[in-house]
Amino acid sequence: MKLLDLHTHIYEYPETEIKQILDRANRVGVAGAILAGTTVKSSNKCVALANADDRLFASVGIHPMEIPLTDIENHIQAIKELALTPQVVAISEIGLDKMLGAPDFRKQEDIFRAHIQLAKTTNLPIIYHSRESYPYILDVLEDEEAYKVGGAAHYFQGDISTAFRCIELGFLISIAKPVLRIPQLQEVVSKIPLENILIETDSFPQPFKKNRKAWTEPRHLVDIVAKIAAIKGTTTTEVSIQLHSNLMKLFKDKSGAMDKILNAHSVNSIEFD
Ligand SMILES: [Zn+2]
Repeated sequence: MKLLDLHTHIYEYPETEIKQILDRANRVGVAGAILAGTTVKSSNKCVALANADDRLFASVGIHPMEIPLTDIENHIQAIKELALTPQVVAISEIGLDKMLGAPDFRKQEDIFRAHIQLAKTTNLPIIYHSRESYPYILDVLEDEEAYKVGGAAHYFQGDISTAFRCIELGFLISIAKPVLRIPQLQEVVSKIPLENILIETDSFPQPFKKNRKAWTEPRHLVDIVAKIAAIKGTTTTEVSIQLHSNLMKLFKDKSGAMDKILNAHSVNSIEFD
């Protein structure tokens, strides 16, 4: 078993703890995780950590809630330079966010469009964030011809028609822990093909949860796999194999190197069923 967590922020933990988190993940068949930067600074950190531990891959970008108000070109240029490092496998975490108090939407859109262009010039997939910005964000992705690189809708929580439009535009649907409890999301999983699904935890330190063991970590991917298998009426093994094949397709020319690493940290069997 060699699952990969598509989207995490575990770089927010101290380095020694990151290693323990990955060790715990490895024991249950989660071979590695992708770190998603949200600023130039954290994107730099993602690349450095990915350089230090082969179980980590980096994705770089500026989160819509963290966009700079000045000096935007320099920030984009810095992300572009980082994107050329071999450990970087995607442009993320980028997107559009309409939450109350979010930065100016026009500015968010300009920066999102610049990142899509950057993804196309570096031939890296886009893993995007959307909060209250459907369906508009899909119009932007379509307008910028983002299907040329494709990618994934991170932490998908939309409805079925939104899921199908994402798929039509060349994007996979990344499912996280809400699928364990939200019926609408379970319905999405039941209706879209397994070929269009990826999984993630979006994990980060959660001090607001008193019990440390309750903090979401990449190891919890196995719960998501079990839920997807139950919804689809199939085995966890079959789900894991298909998810891996979806990943390999998404990461195109990087997939060979990634597969080698994931194999090295895989386990033969896990206590799934
Ligand atoms: Zn995130």
